[in-house]
Amino acid sequence: MKKIATLLAALMLMTAAFAGCGNDTGSSAAGTSSTASESSTTQSSETSQEASTEETSGSGETLVMATNAFFEPYEYYEGDEIVGIDAEIGKAIADKLGMDFEISDMEFDAIIPAIQNGKASIGMAGMTVTPDREKNVSFSQTYATGVQVIIVPEGSDITSADDLEGKKIGVQQGTTGDLYCSDTPENGGFGEDAVTRYSKGSDAVMALLSGKVDCVVIDNEPAKAFVEANEGLKILDTAYVEEEYAIAVAKDNTELLEKVDAALGELKEDGTVQSIIDKYITAE
Ligand code: GLN
Repeated sequence: MKKIATLLAALMLMTAAFAGCGNDTGSSAAGTSSTASESSTTQSSETSQEASTEETSGSGETLVMATNAFFEPYEYYEGDEIVGIDAEIGKAIADKLGMDFEISDMEFDAIIPAIQNGKASIGMAGMTVTPDREKNVSFSQTYATGVQVIIVPEGSDITSADDLEGKKIGVQQGTTGDLYCSDTPENGGFGEDAVTRYSKGSDAVMALLSGKVDCVVIDNEPAKAFVEANEGLKILDTAYVEEEYAIAVAKDNTELLEKVDAALGELKEDGTVQSIIDKYITAE
């Protein structure tokens, strides 16, 4: 428990606005971005259920949201449609801006490069604001919180983060869970060798089910969805430390950042963001 508290504290430090420490998720993401996995699903106005359409269409411009759609309840497939909290908030922002809306599904660590090279206008992927990512993209105000948790098989001898020493840890590549666990022990991590990276959280969970890894470290809401969907898994009751999710925009595109930020601010203020979150996450 102490270990995870240290780790979580380290992560919290990283997410605090300044700090120039350590490992660089943002640029490691950029460096390893896979080309194979990028697929674009055009999801225009008609696909997003409840988002208001009153102000839609006009500018002819398209707001392209880069995401990794295996992160329920923020983004996931229902049939061939991508739904979820981010999908709906993104659509509501596009509506407010009078823009068309499209979702481009890719590996998580391809999202920041896609924003940087202009293939996507925004990144929404339950993406945690970290100082290292802030070197590569700009972030809007935050709209949700997340917590890193540990999933283990029922009956596992791992009962707290202290037991992770020497265990095989599954993570989703390029995420804060990856960053945090693969860091050196001095920084509260378990080292590169302890970590097996998967391109999707669901692949990490499959690896857990088949015994290839001993646990998975991932954000709490997708963790809940994975545990619900698969028998024999549970989430450890670890220390709760929050991360903040925000929308990423290209660094030089201050105009878009301001527009997106203002639209998000209005949607938070009028309760739209909360009602979208409540639709997907039941309060405990
Ligand atoms: N919140 C985590 C991060 O930003 C995980 C995001 C994700 O897997 N979509 O790194």
